[in-house]
Amino acid sequence: MGSAPRANQAGGSASPGAIRDVVDYELLFDCVHCGLCLEACPTYTLNRAEMDSPRGRIYLMKALAQGALELDADVVRHLDLCLECRGCETACPSGVRYGQLIEKARVYVERNWRRSLRERIRNRLIGEIFPYPRRLDWLLMPMRLVDALGLRGTLERLAPAALRNWIELLPAARADAPRFPRAAAVHEDDGPGKAVAVHEGCVAQILTPSENANSARALEAAGYRVVRLERTVCCGALDIHNGNRKRALAFARQNVRELSRCGAEAIVSAASGCSAVIASYGELLREDPVWATAAREVSSRVTDLSSLMIAGRTPFTREFVAKVTYHDSCHLAHGLGIREAPRALLRSLPGVTLVELAEADLCCGSAGSYNLTEPEMARALAARKADNVVATGVDYVILSNPGCELQIAAELRRRGSKIRVMHLADFLALAAGGGEARGAR
Ligand code: SF4
Ligand code: SF4
Repeated sequence: MGSAPRANQAGGSASPGAIRDVVDYELLFDCVHCGLCLEACPTYTLNRAEMDSPRGRIYLMKALAQGALELDADVVRHLDLCLECRGCETACPSGVRYGQLIEKARVYVERNWRRSLRERIRNRLIGEIFPYPRRLDWLLMPMRLVDALGLRGTLERLAPAALRNWIELLPAARADAPRFPRAAAVHEDDGPGKAVAVHEGCVAQILTPSENANSARALEAAGYRVVRLERTVCCGALDIHNGNRKRALAFARQNVRELSRCGAEAIVSAASGCSAVIASYGELLREDPVWATAAREVSSRVTDLSSLMIAGRTPFTREFVAKVTYHDSCHLAHGLGIREAPRALLRSLPGVTLVELAEADLCCGSAGSYNLTEPEMARALAARKADNVVATGVDYVILSNPGCELQIAAELRRRGSKIRVMHLADFLALAAGGGEARGAR
């Protein structure tokens, strides 16, 4: 069953020019069409097609906005294929805010384009399960049984291709995975260390719980007080990527409420994708009559684990001999502009040798739920990333986002590679020798 323009309330298809109401139209004109972003774009790098480049997509958005183009299957395809990695923003000398443009264009697509039944079911599943840790936990129970019985390989062989892709991304269930340590919100007499809130995210709580737990441990070892947040929810990244702005705003308001009253001076998340979204709450809620000011203030406090570890006291004295490389998770590098701190931290660990990775900041294809919705492009990007990782000859590839961890680990597993993929927090625990460490292997 194919996709088609959605009949609107008046009974017709989407009217040309309606995107003016959705996209920040003036932002389109920051683009001077120089093309300097093209080689930084993963989809252009693989497809070599102008309409799969940032410049091409901006042309499409502008043509839609001006009523020169109807929303059709081709246009939707080119917009869907964008990973929202924001590599183009880093490359752009004109400061085009591409992330903002594509986020709003996606809202327009979802409102005005009727997707196929298969896409609707898939998107519904993602939207109703992934932002809710308890639901995901329940859904994964059969997989835990499969893993306990040692039947993962058999299941992967027997599963239909579409399902196999999802199963391959799941890390093996481990009963001893550390959970996030429960702690009360800080008070003024809690001690001299700077208070840091670790936002747990949603999917990471279930699939990679050690990352938040080990982030908290590392921060405490470096002299920080870690604030446990009881009522935060999904950051809204999945909804932003999928054009569901209404729920993204609702999640943002709940998180701003909690983060603004917890007393933390800095906010981190093991998922850099979540960090980048929280850092954008000020923009996202800029017109909210209640939360605009608090949202700006919360956004200004977002940082990352490596930046805080570099600024804190050094807890690492034990030598841990390992050759590692570092993959830049898109939203840490392109969203928050943090590239050097994780590298400096890795270099500072006794015994650790850092080898630079070719195309380190090219998206691995994970991109939120992109590897579930666009498996072909995602696999091609994972393969390119794995080629570059293998070429370094390292023992570990370190990164700062659970999605990248699962994506790269799945690709290395398919190749039978022994290289371990680890979140920075897990690697710090391993190097320190005191904490629980696990990677997606
Ligand atoms: S966000 Fe990433 S995939 Fe999308 S146009 Fe920019 S560089 Fe390309
Ligand atoms: S987005 Fe920036 S780099 Fe890309 S074509 Fe436009 S102005 Fe040039």
